Amino acid sequence: MTPVSLPRMRIHRTTARGALLLSLFLALSLAVVSASRAVNEPNDPPGNGKKSIIFPVIGAATTFDDWGDPRGQGRHAGNDILTTWRSPAVAAEDGTIRLWTTSSRAGCMLYIYGASGTTYLYIHLNNDLTAKRDNRGTCVPGVAYARGLKTGSRVKAGQIIGYNGDSGDAEGNYHLHFEVHPNDGVDVNPRPYLNAARRLLFPVQSVARPVTVGLKGTVVAAGGGVVELSVTSFRVWPGGKWVTIPARLMELAVPVESVVDESLVDLVRSPTRRTLSSRSATKVVAFTIPAEATLAVASGEPGALSVDRIRPG
Ligand SMILES: [Zn+2]
Repeated sequence: MTPVSLPRMRIHRTTARGALLLSLFLALSLAVVSASRAVNEPNDPPGNGKKSIIFPVIGAATTFDDWGDPRGQGRHAGNDILTTWRSPAVAAEDGTIRLWTTSSRAGCMLYIYGASGTTYLYIHLNNDLTAKRDNRGTCVPGVAYARGLKTGSRVKAGQIIGYNGDSGDAEGNYHLHFEVHPNDGVDVNPRPYLNAARRLLFPVQSVARPVTVGLKGTVVAAGGGVVELSVTSFRVWPGGKWVTIPARLMELAVPVESVVDESLVDLVRSPTRRTLSSRSATKVVAFTIPAEATLAVASGEPGALSVDRIRPG
């Protein structure tokens, strides 16, 4: 793979005035989220295969159609994805990492030289040690980048590579500036890639280690060996905590050996699948059988997770 020949001007620039305009722009954009131009997304379907990448941010993320916009001293070469502080940035595809720590505008950034030949840029990763935007962190693993990551590291699609923040000229606006360069060439609009991307609930793990997932939500359908939930929060063990998410449909297998609370047996053990009206919504908590955190599991593909226990929640 050739090192990307990224002209520095390709990174979008934000002067102080630009930062103000960006803030204003982001604030206005947030105001129209409900008017649906900006997409605040639960569950975009996996893409058409050709352009299906892993969505580069885990958790709350709002995207904008801002590629090509005039910004400061140049054209905006990526899409800005509004994030929360320190949310995980994950690899869009399998590839090799280059850390880049010396750009005052990009702040803490990295490249993924993807196995497909496409290069991805992740700009404005975290440089704060506290939520007070202290800028006291440096572009190092554990602050900006995933622990253990270095230039030359190989990563798997969906693996955590960094933490989102506001380094460089993004100060004050937590967002990931994400660029897509097919064939390691000029940037293209990331939007079709992001719209078709697979969204993960949690990062894929770099080493095989089984995880248990807790899911809270309402039953949308059940029976015939599955239960479909509208999930509004989840937790991963070991090590996680409960995270609230935009409602997301997930279908879990219900093996015969799973423990179903007696109040749910008629519903969940029904021999045929039944869809519930929203009025009869039954709130539940489900815990899954330990499974390796593969892409299928991390994105909650139908049947990838199986119920170990389910009870009213
Ligand atoms: Zn940007």
